Amino acid sequence: MNKPTQVHCFINNKKVIGKSANSFPVYFPATGEILCTANSASVEQLDEAVEIASQAQKKWEKTPSQERSRILKKAAELIRYHTNKIAELEVWDTGKPISEAIEVDVVTAADAIEYFSNLAVTLHGDYYSIQDADILTKIEPIGVCAGIGAWNYPFQIAAWKSAPALACGNSFIFKPSELNTLSAVLLGEIYAEAGLPAGLFQVLQGDAELGQMITAHNGIQKISFTGEVGTGKKIMAASSVNLKTLTMELGGKSPLIIFNDTNPETAAKAALAANFYTQGEVCTNGTRVFIQENFLPQFKKAIEGRSNNVRLGNPFEKEVNVGSLISANHKELVENFINKGKSEGAKAFTMGQIPSGDCAKGYFTQPVIFYDCKDSMKIVKEEIFGPVMSVLTFKTEEEVIERANNTEFGLGAGIFTKDISRIQRMIDQLEAGIVWVNNYNITPVEMPFGGTKQSGFGKENGIDTLNHYTKRKSIYISKGDVFSPF
Ligand code: NAD
Repeated sequence: MNKPTQVHCFINNKKVIGKSANSFPVYFPATGEILCTANSASVEQLDEAVEIASQAQKKWEKTPSQERSRILKKAAELIRYHTNKIAELEVWDTGKPISEAIEVDVVTAADAIEYFSNLAVTLHGDYYSIQDADILTKIEPIGVCAGIGAWNYPFQIAAWKSAPALACGNSFIFKPSELNTLSAVLLGEIYAEAGLPAGLFQVLQGDAELGQMITAHNGIQKISFTGEVGTGKKIMAASSVNLKTLTMELGGKSPLIIFNDTNPETAAKAALAANFYTQGEVCTNGTRVFIQENFLPQFKKAIEGRSNNVRLGNPFEKEVNVGSLISANHKELVENFINKGKSEGAKAFTMGQIPSGDCAKGYFTQPVIFYDCKDSMKIVKEEIFGPVMSVLTFKTEEEVIERANNTEFGLGAGIFTKDISRIQRMIDQLEAGIVWVNNYNITPVEMPFGGTKQSGFGKENGIDTLNHYTKRKSIYISKGDVFSPF
């Protein structure tokens, strides 16, 4: 559990210090302690990284797919081997509980890299025969791809984006959020140890300014972005400079719909995990919990009966299951939402205790369940990205579908019921990129992950993601004469 004391960029398989005049403090969110100062990458370092990435990519796309696959597989093995080291950095980076970092962040990162290592050898084009020609399609990498990450799952985001990019023969430059600067560089070292040639995975540290430089860079052909809707829109606009290909993984305000035929304990477990895992800092969280009206008393009893299980505290302690929020600013934002919920008339039920000792100055907020919510309330309409659950009641299936869809977002949705016909009808009608049935927030690597409406487009995970890191060349080989009116 060594305290990090320096932040690096990772360029050409070497750890280097950012050379921009811009620097920013690196905090441990669970104590508020400043660990060190990070230097942003300079514009010259960005240009250098793009040039190196471009040269490396040209060789990488010609590397046999079995070789690409072997390197990625080795990286997945190394991630599993270094689980504790990665998880510790993830805790310093985010303030999330170490148990989660071990069980989810590291596991899902390794799974994605292993999965795409297997798919690397399956990439192929198509062949069609028509009367006058043979038609082929050829799969080609996009070139130099970049990832711009949010702060909630820094290691997983870096892996989920880089794995398909590299499997498809691209090079990848990653800019983590300025709020977590540590674990992505370790991923770079792991890729290098696995045998990934220099220049294929690089990390540049910096804030929105560096993000804007990446977005505007003519040497980059694709951006995969994870973050807020508003930032996504700015990136889309700026990417028009060279018509970059885009993947957008944006925010959400997802409905979790629970019918009265659900076991109350199952409903309570699902709603708690869907709202308070990672302190509520999960994009797909089911933050609008719709409970069928006559089921509310049983749901309330079951969920409140579990309130003693909520344990805030030092995230390095194994029994802690709610860590600190990411920053002082974010804590203020979340608490403003909580105050607004109270002033708009929702009834708050608060869980857990703010820790004392070293963590007293950390950015902790007690998880809150709001009852008596209305669709028009700010806490129900806007993404909070913190441990705040809004409980709403409904009477009929038709009503709840309409209310669930009444949002600009379309990331996830959850349905709990035993009625299979109802499940089928609702899957068709819910406007969401992912619908979970009788479970929530499970993200196996085989399942494409991503939103619709203003929650974004493009996918991570699943075979479909290969399409987002490749382009298809169509080839027409004539068997006949040339037609010409001239
Ligand atoms: P953010 O949009 O503030 O920042 C995300 C990244 O964009 C950071 O690296 C930041 O430095 C960079 N950035 C900021 N302005 C930029 C600009 N103009 N040009 C280029 N880059 C810029 O988001 P955040 O606060 O870090 O993350 C929280 C948000 O992320 C929430 O809305 C959450 O729902 C979303 N999120 C979505 C998913 C998903 O998969 N759909 C996953 C995790 C988080």
